[in-house]
Amino acid sequence: MKAGRWKVRFSYLQQQFARPDGILKDIRRHLKGCQFTLGPDVERFEKSFAAMIGTRHAVGVGSGTDALKLALKAAGVGYGDEVITAANTFIATVGAICETGARPVLVDVKPYFTIDPAKIESAITSKTKAILPVHLTGEAADMGPIMEIARRRNLAVVEDACQAILAKVDGKTAGTFGLAAGYSLHPLKNLNVWGDAGIIVTSSDEAAARLRLLRNHGLSSRDEVEILGHNSRLDSIQAIVGNWLIKQVHSITRKRIGHAAMYDKAFAGMSDHIRIPPRRPNVRRVYHLYIIEVRKRDELYAYLLKRGVEAKIHYPIPLHLQKGLSPFGYKAGDFPETERQAKCILTLPADQHLSDRQVHYTIGVIREFYKNH
Ligand SMILES: *Cc1c(COP(=O)(O)O)cnc(C)c1O
Repeated sequence: MKAGRWKVRFSYLQQQFARPDGILKDIRRHLKGCQFTLGPDVERFEKSFAAMIGTRHAVGVGSGTDALKLALKAAGVGYGDEVITAANTFIATVGAICETGARPVLVDVKPYFTIDPAKIESAITSKTKAILPVHLTGEAADMGPIMEIARRRNLAVVEDACQAILAKVDGKTAGTFGLAAGYSLHPLKNLNVWGDAGIIVTSSDEAAARLRLLRNHGLSSRDEVEILGHNSRLDSIQAIVGNWLIKQVHSITRKRIGHAAMYDKAFAGMSDHIRIPPRRPNVRRVYHLYIIEVRKRDELYAYLLKRGVEAKIHYPIPLHLQKGLSPFGYKAGDFPETERQAKCILTLPADQHLSDRQVHYTIGVIREFYKNH
């Protein structure tokens, strides 16, 4: 089915950037200044982002993956170390760990997609340096118990908040628990720009100073290399886009939460076929992805596509069963909850540009499917 033929499309980027005039005007201004790396637009975005999350600092970098990699390095993670993370995540989480030279150690997840704190302790070894919880789908990981384990075992915590801008747990914003947190500004994320970009938040002055070195070749001045670093600066043009988008994040979040509530209400009466993941009352979910567990998943998925609803699966093949991760020696059965989820989860469009009619249409198609199957 062609993009224009979807009744309920998954990507909303055309609507999101349908009126780019303000952004383009700022880019023209930027062209006159010719400050093409870092500079005032990047600084402004960093200040707004830190204020929005509630941290002392934010440091813009080249991607969400780099945000995690540099945050881990700022936490002292390097070659020979182990970093514990969730088995159910996007490959970039594991990739970032490997790029520091450390080994990723996977731990199974809860039915709400985030790392199971009860399974962390047995994964800790003498080489473990950090825990990297992932706030997957816009859920928030159980940060209370995770921070308790980290304190007791003297481990650093870096949060993967790429899918969870403005999520909260126990009244505290995701990304403010650990030493630092990484966010992605990739076009598919809730705060999205026109290419790859990422940002790290921290309230540690020391970590922030180190991150500013790490993203810019380790240069403390034009001529002095303080540490070995990377070239991973937040692109100035993406910062301009970000400065426009950041004003919308609260309303984007509210709309997504509203659409999720409409789905939840409809699916609550369909428990023979659909299971809504546990909705913990102490968590504010921001629904980067709206995911349910469904019976006859593959048939329903095909049916939705046929009826013009662009559903997705995040993610159909767990990381530990991917060919690219075979060097780590994991096998089928290692993470039963992650493997169970991969077989029955389904993602429905729930973005800010969806109309209520589209949400109702999607619900109607799902009802129709189960009536006939
Ligand atoms: C998107 C994402 C990343 C990586 O972000 P990029 O900007 O694409 O590098 C990392 N972790 C998770 C969970 C993500 O969803």
